[in-house]
Amino acid sequence: MIRSFSRLSTRVSLPTASRAFSAEVETSWTDAWNAATENMKSNVTFEESAEILRNLTKTDLLRATDLRDSPSRFFEAHRILARHAVEHGPGFWIRFTVHYNLFAGTIVAAGDEEQVSRLADYQAAGELGCFGLTEKLAGVQSGLVVQTTATYDEASDEFILDTPHEGARKNWISQGFVADKAVVLADLIVKGESKGPHAFVMDFRSSGSLVPGVKIDDMGSKTVGNDLDNAWIDFENVRLPKDSMLRRYAEIVDGEYIIKGDVRPFDMIGQRLYTGRIAVAQAALEYRRALFSKTKSYSDSKKMFAFSGEPVLSEIPQLEALYEENEERLGRLDEYVGDCEAALSEVLKEGGTPDTRLVDCIATAKVKAVEDSIEMVHRLRQEVGSFALMADAGFKHTDFLQCCKFAEGDSRILMSKIARDRLRLVEKGQDMDSEEGKQALGLAMAMKGHLDKGASKQEAWDKEWKGVYELAETVMDRVMTDGPTV
Ligand SMILES: Cc1cc2nc3c(=O)[nH]c(=O)nc-3n(C[C@H](O)[C@H](O)[C@H](O)COP(=O)(O)OP(=O)(O)OC[C@H]3O[C@@H](n4cnc5c(N)ncnc54)[C@H](O)[C@@H]3O)c2cc1C
Repeated sequence: MIRSFSRLSTRVSLPTASRAFSAEVETSWTDAWNAATENMKSNVTFEESAEILRNLTKTDLLRATDLRDSPSRFFEAHRILARHAVEHGPGFWIRFTVHYNLFAGTIVAAGDEEQVSRLADYQAAGELGCFGLTEKLAGVQSGLVVQTTATYDEASDEFILDTPHEGARKNWISQGFVADKAVVLADLIVKGESKGPHAFVMDFRSSGSLVPGVKIDDMGSKTVGNDLDNAWIDFENVRLPKDSMLRRYAEIVDGEYIIKGDVRPFDMIGQRLYTGRIAVAQAALEYRRALFSKTKSYSDSKKMFAFSGEPVLSEIPQLEALYEENEERLGRLDEYVGDCEAALSEVLKEGGTPDTRLVDCIATAKVKAVEDSIEMVHRLRQEVGSFALMADAGFKHTDFLQCCKFAEGDSRILMSKIARDRLRLVEKGQDMDSEEGKQALGLAMAMKGHLDKGASKQEAWDKEWKGVYELAETVMDRVMTDGPTV
């Protein structure tokens, strides 16, 4: 069983968020959320951490449906919690976003009115939800393709949820040891035919015990965030009632699978990755802001040896330059990610789906915010001497940024997709005259050289992997300059 290992450290005075983000949120709400979360703890067991989230949801300050009704609160709540990660690590932030964005958010996006209305009951009861997408051999990296199956059984009018082999076990599922409910992604099988990934909301525990047919175990101890429980999950012919399938866009009617309208359920499930990417991008920026702020408080008062004058560490030229560079880079990212949040919030309020331009902008926001923060935090660590080693300085939780890197689509995966989409334009003979177009054409030609020698498409891609990521960098730089709105 997991227990928390981190020590309670001295309180950090947290900087406020960038104006680019928080303009729309009422100050009174922000004050209330700050007050409700100020006593965040990390020296707790995972059960205690879950209890803190249960109590926070019961305050009703942030409703499960606010992602749709008040996206600015949803994002502000994430940012405020991310600032605590310098002191307490990533555990609670991940628990929170899994419940509000992945679990509740998927129900909001893909459930019908009745299914969405149940969220208020869960919230009043302080019930928590987990989100089962990732499998040992599939998940975000596989483009949401999963091997867990949900077979429609006509005789009982139910679904049978099953893990067909070990590689299809759900993996790394946050809150798996405490969740009352679960949203599970499974391949829907109707009359022997696969209908692709669909989301099912199920009772995960009943009176505190796992429902029959569900087996879990611990993923093991992590470098950070051990106040968060992570489980692998195996389903053995678990019977789910028919209304467990999120049915706003697809349903089983009289034994037949029907799609309602022109939105694929799969696309709506993927929506949560967009909100998640913005929340993760902002979390990386907030963690970095708080860590730089805490470190600067120290270096402003740390006296240094000098033959003349009384310099402090902050005045040592390389550190002074790093602080300036950080302000400039952070400011640019704050603004860009804030623009993406604003554009996505409009889409969320209308219940639509982001267009290709916004999808690329969001992917870019996540990669840039996370990778830039990893670089700047690493560089800061190299310039502050022994402080970086102190247990309560905040650097021991830098693996929070690693979590940001692979959550909701790893940087490499997002960059591969950006490059692949750009190469498709070349295939169609579009936009080849710009410098970016020439670079894409060069990559396409290099890959063609491998294909002509008998290589497969994958082999050609793998041989040119450096060019793939270089092209993605070029596209991301342009996307960031253009911004999300025309
Ligand atoms: C603390 C924590 C909480 C989590 N919570 C949840 C949860 O609640 N629900 C859930 O569903 N999942 C959850 N996950 C799973 C998480 O989303 C996955 O860990 C993530 O998708 C990465 O999968 P992986 O670690 O197996 O990486 P791998 O798939 O093993 O990939 C390793 C690395 O290889 C590279 N890579 C992989 N495939 C490719 C490719 N095709 N091309 C180029 N590069 C590639 C990437 O750089 C990647 O970082 C959680 C994970 C952690 C660690």
